[in-house]
Amino acid sequence: MNIESFIHQEADKCVKCGLCLPHCPTYLKTRNEADSPRGRIALLQGLVENALELSPQLSGHIDGCLSCRACEHACPSVVRFGQLMDAGRALIKEREGRSADHSRQARLTARLRGKGLPIPLLRLYQKSGMQWLARRSGILKRLGLERLDRYLPLLPRPAPWREVYGPVGDMRGSVALFTGCMGPFEQTSLEATASLLVQCGYRVHVPRAQVCCGALDQHEGNLDTARAMARSNINAFNALSIDAVIFTASGCGATLSEYQALAGQSFQTPVMDSTSFLQQMAWPSHITFTPLARRVAVHDPCTLTHVLRTQNSVYSLLALIPEIQLIPLPGNTFCCGAAGSTMISQPEMADTLLEDKIAALDALQPDILVTSNIGCGLHLAAGIREAGLAVEVMHPVALLERQVKGKDTRGKIQGK
Ligand code: SF4
Ligand code: SF4
Repeated sequence: MNIESFIHQEADKCVKCGLCLPHCPTYLKTRNEADSPRGRIALLQGLVENALELSPQLSGHIDGCLSCRACEHACPSVVRFGQLMDAGRALIKEREGRSADHSRQARLTARLRGKGLPIPLLRLYQKSGMQWLARRSGILKRLGLERLDRYLPLLPRPAPWREVYGPVGDMRGSVALFTGCMGPFEQTSLEATASLLVQCGYRVHVPRAQVCCGALDQHEGNLDTARAMARSNINAFNALSIDAVIFTASGCGATLSEYQALAGQSFQTPVMDSTSFLQQMAWPSHITFTPLARRVAVHDPCTLTHVLRTQNSVYSLLALIPEIQLIPLPGNTFCCGAAGSTMISQPEMADTLLEDKIAALDALQPDILVTSNIGCGLHLAAGIREAGLAVEVMHPVALLERQVKGKDTRGKIQGK
């Protein structure tokens, strides 16, 4: 089916009931029907029926969608809104060509995704004082790189992965870890996941042939690029004899889990987020956890809540830690504003949505905030830092692993 037919088919399912409107963060902020799911569907319908002309205003409303899919979760007609938006953006690109008006940041992030992050250079930038100087000189703003610099976390020393890690004790199974293009930013959560799996008796593969999941290209309408990435990953993981593909970033996981719809092929094994896999597993009796008498706020990323729908596993898993006080972050069903590349490409909406999360954290005063998506983590951490709040931001599995008694679990993985 071509893009226009798909848009026709999906848009026709919308009965214009408006039940999705109270769930849409962009509509709630602007109160403009064109920034609502129903309005965006009507715009795409008008475009494919040639009742509307393509204009910067129209494409702005489509680009403004966060692809958070809260509307899809609420829709009684089961409109596949995520796929509809991806198709809409691809159609707009096809009709108009978009590369000319892409922001400097978007082009730079696309280049980094393709080539991998230059971690040694970024570490030199951080450690040599260049970052300090660049921030004070105003050059980042002049080059349009201020947003990218804002999200750069303190990078650990790069530690290449081996292709396989053997289990501790009797083998219970074999899994593979998806590291994706943000791997260096996620080193702690990936290492924590691999460490726990190994200690629980799993062989862990980390295939070198894996690439970026393709999410950002998919949501920007670069469907051919996203499909090529999907096929590379499917080939890399299907070549292994494993029980599951495990990811730590829910944004990547949402895309991996929908490869069939994107590329017409999928993995031969289940694709699971690290919290779900660890939560459903029988834990060996030799692993116990140090009590943590702290208030831990839980941020539910949109991809975990509205796409994968496995957000409850985070609470069940962290409940293994004695004395922990888990508190869902108020407003959890609404996007934090990170939303793929939105935090870079649409700073105004990204920061407005972030303000709500920071206000909720300020009222709650937790010690730790856990989130299962790296993009949300970077965006929330930047807001927390700028607001002067004393809240540590972590992946839930990294927190769980930190509480393991004894710490001998890390020996197999750390330093790799
Ligand atoms: S809830 Fe579904 S059917 Fe109703 S307006 Fe929204 S997209 Fe259309
Ligand atoms: S995906 Fe999110 S931002 Fe986009 S229309 Fe649906 S609810 Fe609104």
